Amino acid sequence: AALVSAVSGTKREIQYPLKADGKARYPSEIYGENVFTLKTMAKALPKPIFASFLKQRRGRQNLDKNTADSISHAVRVWAMDRGATHYTHWFQPQTGTTAEKHDAFLSLVSNFTPGGEEVTPIDQFSGGQLLQSEPDASSFPSGGMRTTFEARGYTIWDTSSSMFVQQGPNGTSILYIPSVFISYNGDALDEKTVLLRSNDVLSRAATDLLSILEPESHISHVYTTLGTEQEFFMVDRNMYSLRPDLKITGRTLVGQLPPRHQQLEDHYFGRIPSRVMAAMSELELECLRLGIPIKTRHNEVAPGQFELAPIFEEASVAVDHNLLTMDLLHKVAHRHNLRVLYHEKPFKGINGSGKHCNWALSTDRGENLLDPTVRPETNFRFIIFLLAVLRALHEHAALLRVAISSSSNEHRLGAQEAPPGIISAFLGDQLNEVLDAIEENRPLKNFSVPQFQSIKVGGTVLDVKVSGLPHIARDLTDRNRTSPFAFTGNKFEFRAVGSKQSPSFPVTVLNCAVSAALHEITADLRAQTGSKPRPSDEDKLAVIRKYIKLTKHVRFEGDNYSEAWVKEAERRGLPNIASAPEAYPHLIAAKHVKMLTKETGVFSESELKSRYHILNERYTKDIIIEAETLSTIIGQQILPAAFEYRKSLAETAVALKTVGIEGGPEIETLEELTPLVAALQAEFRKLVKALKGCLEHEHETEDSNKHALAAYNDIVPVIASVREAADALEVVVADKYWPLPKYTELLLTI
Ligand code: ADP
Ligand code: MG
Repeated sequence: AALVSAVSGTKREIQYPLKADGKARYPSEIYGENVFTLKTMAKALPKPIFASFLKQRRGRQNLDKNTADSISHAVRVWAMDRGATHYTHWFQPQTGTTAEKHDAFLSLVSNFTPGGEEVTPIDQFSGGQLLQSEPDASSFPSGGMRTTFEARGYTIWDTSSSMFVQQGPNGTSILYIPSVFISYNGDALDEKTVLLRSNDVLSRAATDLLSILEPESHISHVYTTLGTEQEFFMVDRNMYSLRPDLKITGRTLVGQLPPRHQQLEDHYFGRIPSRVMAAMSELELECLRLGIPIKTRHNEVAPGQFELAPIFEEASVAVDHNLLTMDLLHKVAHRHNLRVLYHEKPFKGINGSGKHCNWALSTDRGENLLDPTVRPETNFRFIIFLLAVLRALHEHAALLRVAISSSSNEHRLGAQEAPPGIISAFLGDQLNEVLDAIEENRPLKNFSVPQFQSIKVGGTVLDVKVSGLPHIARDLTDRNRTSPFAFTGNKFEFRAVGSKQSPSFPVTVLNCAVSAALHEITADLRAQTGSKPRPSDEDKLAVIRKYIKLTKHVRFEGDNYSEAWVKEAERRGLPNIASAPEAYPHLIAAKHVKMLTKETGVFSESELKSRYHILNERYTKDIIIEAETLSTIIGQQILPAAFEYRKSLAETAVALKTVGIEGGPEIETLEELTPLVAALQAEFRKLVKALKGCLEHEHETEDSNKHALAAYNDIVPVIASVREAADALEVVVADKYWPLPKYTELLLTI
């Protein structure tokens, strides 16, 4: 395009903080300085108050008014010393992002004196204000859960996540109170309530099993741990502002890289462009202050694509931190005249973005239950927990598919970057062999692969039945990057999660499914043990063998992108769900509902129904917005540009003829152009018609899934064919006439 971007550099370099003596402060000193941590709290509060808070936090008692008042006072003073003028209950509605409403600490107190009313300004923040507030809930999706007469939602302080201050405008700051968002009746309206519930349920299920497996270790709590690898694109903000599709839908609806540019897919681990680097390091400084442990940053496969990953944390905190990081990066990028794209597939033909969710279980002693090298003598424990995850995956694959389904992630799932419909688990050669050997009750094969040399069984014949389990080394072999759910040494990595979505729901669903599997396994182990005080190795192996057999079909080590796998998966009876609207009904299918409600108690039926509607409505809305945006771009920008170019060619040809030159090349280009314009116009008409049809039928039925399916079947294919026609035109129309920045400009100007 003939649009020259004023690519500007960093506007404002934030300097790395120094000590009074001019030397740099260490990251470890800055870490968490804007967080009202337990340590800060302990210092700021009287001992009995702090003790009573801790009890409440561990779920042993409710927070009383006295404690709440003391904490609110302490945190207000702490925050105001850091420039805070406002506080906000920060929560996670079912929109994938966070929401906040700010209230000032300032209040007025009226005194009535004989001389008249006297107003005194004071700074105030009561325990009641800390505990709960009532945002205007009507604008957040509720899926019909809030009827209008009680359109109330409450945000309530989540004491498991620390409060923090964030920079506001003009040197002020804001106190953030991490919160849950629930309805008048106590139903979850947000992503966090259910995640917290699922953490609890999983903790109880895991400790129950551990109490049988190793009663002497008295583990009282198990945590879900989560590390999110966040991928994203960065583009120049001026370029971005010229692309209505990016601005409105988050992805380009037209455009593609010219074929000769395919070699651009070679940026992995390359140099990070300096402007992006400046933004990232500014972000990291903010993160440090907020106690978000960002660990790695690097280029991704595609040009303009990057990744940030933190050190893993307890899951609900990790989710808070992921959402906060996304938000902060967005703000920081703005200051550097960049725009972050979190969409899963902003550019056609170019690698999309995911959010790998690394997931494991940790005991209150910090032992990772999925690490085979932690106390190898407990390998029974390791294998049993591993099987619980496989069982969860096998039983509830369709549900996990629901949890990652959105209009945007479909582009990635369907684009062979993560297998479309089929959820399977990759374990690696060694673990597979261990499971196979146990199943077949045969000696473990000798691994001659160098990576496995640390296995203690090398060369010896091992009778599993007699000798117990082998030592299992951490598998360091090349991982199968095509698997949606891979075991990576000491954790599972759920790779199909979308970059844009909150990790909360996928993790919640996984937690629930694993809890249900643990219940099942625990019951079997109890039955197997009978009246003995504890299970023998034989008992454990019997249960292990049963679950190896039951979960065999969900294990897949091959190429998940291959046609052969689609057939094989069908033979194995694994669900292959092609699209989001086809996935959503599984959320309310009997089997999954039973697990999510009765078996684990994490959701109520009405919460599931409302979520189901929200997902469907979101999908339909996304597609309609895409169709509307595309039709505006085609009708008002691209077709007029093509007409103009055509006109100029025709005029040139006529002018040349008057001076005796036959306009050969112009005529040729005209002839090439004309059918392409006609084709685009024809597709454009189809789009307008499909959109109209969809909007008209919207009111015919109450079934939100029917609308979503209609959008998927009637609009999505037309969006694709319009794009194809527009892209064919882009190659022919002179650059000077093309109204939008092209891929090369978008991707190579940072
Ligand atoms: P990989 O190269 O396998 O992706 P990394 O060590 O880079 O492994 O880890 C990727 C992410 O996984 C990081 O966010 C890391 O903190 C996280 N992670 C590591 N161990 C665990 C665990 N036990 N539970 C949850 N996440 C973990
Ligand atoms: Mg990884």
